Amino acid sequence: MVEVKNLVKKYGDHVAVDHLSFTVEKGQIYGFLGPNGAGKSTTMNIMTGYIGATEGEVMIDGHDILKDAEAAKRSIGYLPEIPPVYPDMTVLEYLKFSAELKGIKREAQDAQIQKVMEMTRVTEVSERLIKNLSKGYRQRVGLAHAIMGFPPIIILDEPTVGLDPKQIIEIRELIKELSKEHTVILSSHILSEISEVCDYVMIIAHGRLIAADTTSNLTRMMQGQSTYQFLVRGSEDAVRQALSTVEGLSKMEVKPSAEEGIVDVVTECLGLDEDSSADVRESIFYALAHAECPMMAPSQHVSLEEIFLELTQEQPENNKKEKRRFKIKRAKAEEAQDNGSDL
Ligand code: ADP
Ligand code: MG
Repeated sequence: MVEVKNLVKKYGDHVAVDHLSFTVEKGQIYGFLGPNGAGKSTTMNIMTGYIGATEGEVMIDGHDILKDAEAAKRSIGYLPEIPPVYPDMTVLEYLKFSAELKGIKREAQDAQIQKVMEMTRVTEVSERLIKNLSKGYRQRVGLAHAIMGFPPIIILDEPTVGLDPKQIIEIRELIKELSKEHTVILSSHILSEISEVCDYVMIIAHGRLIAADTTSNLTRMMQGQSTYQFLVRGSEDAVRQALSTVEGLSKMEVKPSAEEGIVDVVTECLGLDEDSSADVRESIFYALAHAECPMMAPSQHVSLEEIFLELTQEQPENNKKEKRRFKIKRAKAEEAQDNGSDL
């Protein structure tokens, strides 16, 4: 359906998109996940023919977006980051213009506009000027334009930004509905947003693709890295000995802390088993208690969100392990400050 090969976009010396390659198959929801500035919008703007690439190729339904732009664009509906709506038109006027622009036959236009307005729930504001609409409604009008004519590929750049929770749920429902007959590609900088609706996730950072997999595989992979960090009173040997009795730890590091007689422990374990009442944190607690090595600071759980942040914030060439340790320390310092417990 969509094939992106070795895409590069430079703004002067700045590389916004750095040799990005991926393919998108029919009938799924794809998510571009990455922090602000990762290159999501730039990539989408290139895929939809809004801007040119410095290098690389984009094929849409077998059509090159540059060489065969008209045919390629016919297959795409696009909601850019800032919807291209005309403030001085009413919603209906704008959607008539949109239907015309997309080459929908005159006799089919009215029915098409009604259908699209119903799906995006803008019927009740159809006579209002776009400039008088709330951000949420303006976003929906942009979405109505994107799906007008029901092109096979629908690309939505941060479709839920600035919407309230109720509107977010409505848009998610609509995206799921659309995915029954369309390929949907959307972007977000929020992990939960993507994991909620997408079948497939592409994590982008610094213009590069750093992970691409099904949502369930990625979630499993990330959960598989649950990390806990805590301080324990006792000797390194005694603590190591005690923790060696805990099942399910895939990694353990015990080192001296700043305070004498207290060691700093980092453990990694497999994802918590939802069916099991036995939480590995409990096992750790009892093992340490049994060895008379009391836990001095509450366990710090490094969440999925933090792992995502870590994956996307660090330069890939840097040493990830060091970075993670730094992150955990920083999280711990913050926790010590507000004296809260994560347990
Ligand atoms: P995202 O959508 O993931 O937040 P963008 O694609 O908007 O990221 O931006 C990627 C990078 O390219 C950022 O560093 C941004 O500052 C830069 N950038 C985007 N558009 C331009 C532009 N027109 N001129 C110069 N730099 C730009
Ligand atoms: Mg963006």
